Amino acid sequence: VPLALGIDIGGTKVAAGVVDGHGVIVEELRRVTPGRDARAVEQVIVDLVAELGSRHAIESVGIGAAGWMDLDGARVVFSPHLAWRDEPLRDTLEAMLHRPVLVTNDADAAAWAEARFGAGQGHSRMIMLTLGTGIGGALVLDGKVERGAFGMAGEFGHQIIMPGGHRCECGNRGCWEQYASGNALGREARELAGKQSPMAAALLAAVDGRAEEITGTVVTDLALQGEATSKELIAEVGDWLGLGMANLAAALDPALFVIGGGLSAAGELLLEPARRAYSRNLTGRGYRKEAAIEEAQLGAAAGLIGAADLSRARR
Ligand code: BGC
Ligand code: ZN
Repeated sequence: VPLALGIDIGGTKVAAGVVDGHGVIVEELRRVTPGRDARAVEQVIVDLVAELGSRHAIESVGIGAAGWMDLDGARVVFSPHLAWRDEPLRDTLEAMLHRPVLVTNDADAAAWAEARFGAGQGHSRMIMLTLGTGIGGALVLDGKVERGAFGMAGEFGHQIIMPGGHRCECGNRGCWEQYASGNALGREARELAGKQSPMAAALLAAVDGRAEEITGTVVTDLALQGEATSKELIAEVGDWLGLGMANLAAALDPALFVIGGGLSAAGELLLEPARRAYSRNLTGRGYRKEAAIEEAQLGAAAGLIGAADLSRARR
C-alpha cells in the first residue's frame, strides 16, 4: 500500500502526517492555523506537502477540515471556524499539489480512522466526538460514515443545548460546542481568572498573570498535574458533554461513543463526569442498555490518519 499524506485543519492547528497502509504515522509536522485567510491556509497545505513530499513518496493527499463539505467532497460549503465559503477546494488543491486529493470533514476523517484502526473496531454503530476549537461529530454505521442527504450529517456540536446561551461562530446561540469543547474550557477558565478569584491562582501563575493567555490546553495540563480548580473546570465540561451525548443517544442509540480531539488528553478527568452526566440524563435509564464512552485510541492524530487513509480511494 503506498504512502498517503493526511492533513487535519482545525480552528487552531494544522497537523500533517505521512501514513502507511496500517494507519501508522511515519512522520508528522504541525503548524498554527493562519487565522481566517483561505489563501494562507492553502499555502500552508502546499508547504507541508512540499516538505513531507521531499522525504517520502506520497501518492495521495487527504484533507480533513473543520468544515461542511458537499456530498462528493468537491466543495467546502461553510465553516464556522475557517475561511472557506462555497469553495471548490478539492480541484484547487489537486491543481496545486499535482496529486489526487480527497477533502472531508475533520471529524468524519477521525471517525473513519477510529472505526478502522482504533477504538471503534468491531462496533457497527459508533459516534465519534472530537473536542477542540469546537465539537466535531460523526456517526459510523456498519463501517461507513453517515453523511446525510447533503453531506452535513453529524454536526452535533451545533445542537442547541442552552437556548439564549453563548453565541456560536455558526450564528446561533447556545450550541453544545460552546459548553463542551476545548475553547469552552478556556473561556470558563479565563472568566474565573478575570474575576481575580483566589480559585484561579494556579491558573494565573501558569501564564505569568496574563489571564487572556489561558487556553483549554493550559487548563488540561494543570489538571493532569492534579490542580484542583482545573480539575473542577474539566468536570464541568464533562457534565455538558454527558448531557449532549444523552440527547444523541435518544436520537441515534449508538453502542459506543469515542471521544477524541485535543481535550481528550484530559482522559478520565473528563470521561468520568461525562459518563455520570450521560447516565443521569439518558431517557429510559435503568431500562435500556447504555453505550460505552471511551477515549480515542489514535488520540489527536485520528483526523490526519483517517484523511490519509480515505485519500487512497481517489487514486
Ligand atoms: C464544525 C465541524 C467541525 C468541528 C470540529 C464545528 O464547529 O461545525 O464541521 O467538525 O467544529 O472541528
Ligand atoms: Zn453553533
